[in-house]
Amino acid sequence: MSNDDSGLLFPTAPESDGFVSGSGDGLFDGPIDGEDDGELKPLLGDDYYMRAALRCAQQAADAGEVPVGAVAVKDGLIIARSWNQVELLKDATAHAELMLIASLPQIVGDWRLDGIDIYVTKEPCAMCAGAMVNSRIRRVIFGMRDPRCGCAGTALDITGFPGMLHNVEVTAGLMEEECKEMFQTFFRTVRANARKKKS
Ligand SMILES: [Zn+2]
Repeated sequence: MSNDDSGLLFPTAPESDGFVSGSGDGLFDGPIDGEDDGELKPLLGDDYYMRAALRCAQQAADAGEVPVGAVAVKDGLIIARSWNQVELLKDATAHAELMLIASLPQIVGDWRLDGIDIYVTKEPCAMCAGAMVNSRIRRVIFGMRDPRCGCAGTALDITGFPGMLHNVEVTAGLMEEECKEMFQTFFRTVRANARKKKS
């Protein structure tokens, strides 16, 4: 993918489905928080992309969803973003990573997502880790480890399981405190609201 004349970091987008950003829904077509000034930034580090994933997670939290956000990066560019939408869609598979992976073939023109990295605020579950393997994601970088359901090396190691057709390189625990804090804040608020309702 190359940056076109639009000067945006997200020049390509899937047809609008209204849910995955970069989809022409107007949510992410321009600068966000001063993040995108139209210039290529080839030397951005992992933290930059994780901060973008955290902003996606905040979108989920603002909508009352469990705050998990993810971005896909190819050649240093964020090419798609997504966040958890299980409640909105009433769909247990509407995890940030799975929706992101489902949107990518329209952007890169192939189901094989070689050379694409996914930054996600929480360790992928079995379903999402499996989708990363099957779609040949190069690398997953996640924030919060999930001792109960994390399948990128913590509870299970689906991304690195010997004998799989493909192994996904894993970087665990990037900006873990920030990612965990967002999670904990969300659940504190949910519990407080539940208590208010009872009283
Ligand atoms: Zn998942």
